[in-house]
Amino acid sequence: TYIIAEPCVDLLDRACVEECPVDCIYEGDRMLYIQPDECVDCGACEPVCPVEAIFYEDDVPDEWEPYVKANVDFFDDL
Ligand code: SF4
Repeated sequence: TYIIAEPCVDLLDRACVEECPVDCIYEGDRMLYIQPDECVDCGACEPVCPVEAIFYEDDVPDEWEPYVKANVDFFDDL
């Protein structure tokens, strides 16, 4: 799955939402989240993010590693 990290917080540009072919990017209070079970790893969202907040899960920078869990937790809590 792809992961959305800190640059999205309080920005929510939503360019990725338009791009996602399976509509698996959801809106939280302060950022967008990718539903890991629905994401088909197409990568379409990554280049359109104006702040480069989206990473393939194995490529998330160490400082933003907690966002991997945050994306999962967001959907567990719904
Ligand atoms: Fe949607 Fe593709 Fe991005 Fe996954 S990688 S969130 S399927 S656009």
